[in-house]
Amino acid sequence: MEQERVEKAHHIVVLADQGQGHINPMLQFSKRLASKGIKITVATTLSNAKAMKAALSDSMISLESIYDDCSEGGVVGPGGFRGFLDRFQTRGSTNLTKFILDQEQTEHPVKCLVYDANIPWASKITTQSGIAGAAFFTQSCASAATYYPMYCEVFEKTPLFMPSFPFMTGLPKLRFPNLPSLGSSTGRYPPIIMHMLGQFDNFEKADWVLFNSFDKLEEEVVNWMKKLWNAVTIGPTLPSFYLDKRVENDSEYGFNIHQPNSSNCMEWLDNKKTGSVVYVSFGSAANLSADQITEVADSLRQSNIMFLWVVKPYEQSKLSSDFIKETSEKGLIVTWCSQLAVLAHHAVGCFVSHCGWNSTLEAISFGVPIVAMPQILDQTINAHFLEKVWGVGLIAKANDGVTASEEIHRCIREVLEGERGQEIRKCITSLKELAKEAIDTSGSSDKHIDEFISQLDPAYFRHRSN
Ligand code: UDP
Repeated sequence: MEQERVEKAHHIVVLADQGQGHINPMLQFSKRLASKGIKITVATTLSNAKAMKAALSDSMISLESIYDDCSEGGVVGPGGFRGFLDRFQTRGSTNLTKFILDQEQTEHPVKCLVYDANIPWASKITTQSGIAGAAFFTQSCASAATYYPMYCEVFEKTPLFMPSFPFMTGLPKLRFPNLPSLGSSTGRYPPIIMHMLGQFDNFEKADWVLFNSFDKLEEEVVNWMKKLWNAVTIGPTLPSFYLDKRVENDSEYGFNIHQPNSSNCMEWLDNKKTGSVVYVSFGSAANLSADQITEVADSLRQSNIMFLWVVKPYEQSKLSSDFIKETSEKGLIVTWCSQLAVLAHHAVGCFVSHCGWNSTLEAISFGVPIVAMPQILDQTINAHFLEKVWGVGLIAKANDGVTASEEIHRCIREVLEGERGQEIRKCITSLKELAKEAIDTSGSSDKHIDEFISQLDPAYFRHRSN
């Protein structure tokens, strides 16, 4: 009965952004809400909707395409990334508003729009449609705290509270103009930076600011956030099968930008000793330079350690065929894999990672120590936290943007065989437990999700508008 009441009353639209690292956590959050009896519609571009279809076929989640990016060339269409963003905003906001208004005539009027904070125009839709809005941040709370002063500086806003945490000391200066320049721009700031800082636009108007993190991981920052926004942690958003096992049919993200080579990886890992394999992956977006690929290859060639390395299709040409031949006995190179299944495998003892936020949370949740090789943006912040704050990894230091093979090799050995490696394993095992506890019944994130749902009750809105 209770379930039926909730289903009738609550309909949430989740607006997902482009990119593997954005879609994974938002899809997972959608699945989690749906498992608690909420009707969910995921609104996204046509290409994403097509790719998500199979993943969501068993769930109660509906898909709504709000922009046909396929016929307009997507991010490589006219005007590049900026052109895509403009078209997505213009067409997407019109179609999404219409969809939300159309639902008013149905049994399931929309109560709330959960939108990727990278899509700040969504906030206007919530105001115009008279529904609640939740900005979903797919990076860490510490990243938001680091970017916030930069946002205030670039957009000439008066900061409400400035972060000042002891563990931030020593963090490499990330404030503009020290950030890497990405994408072409005729303006003063590269479009990617403006896009990223745009996350904070209208943050103060959001009814909730949701973070894919958990309280015990970032306690001090979370407490600071709460002074600024209605900040709430709801993570980690890994498939439930790997954490609390309470959501049915939830063992994969189910969305892959490249075709995974899963069975090959699992067969290969199955006959390796526990903790003997180094897994190397730089996520979905980084495009490593030929020099950096050569250094990683040399570090793996030098050692007698087994490795599984994800070299994306567009990076393959930078890998020498000699290396592939010489290392075929001890290494497997794939263009994409099911990273969750790989990190969960007993054979994997170390993760050489670019430290994207999802990869960081996955390594923590599976208790796999990290050798950090951050490439851009928040990856540097995550790497700093992994080594200096949580003690669960080592940073392989770069010189002029390239990390030398000796340094990578040294860190891998230290993590797998050194004394530091033992301490790291102890720390990451404790964090692993805390991650599971947070999302399990009555854990902090579980409670926050339940509170979020209960606040969608109409009585709550009546109270707020008085
Ligand atoms: N991933 C995957 N297979 C791979 C490499 C990565 O499934 O071969 C997933 C990984 O599990 C993570 C996401 O892609 O969930 C990458 O997100 P992250 O935030 O780590 O980095 P980004 O791709 O955004 O830089």
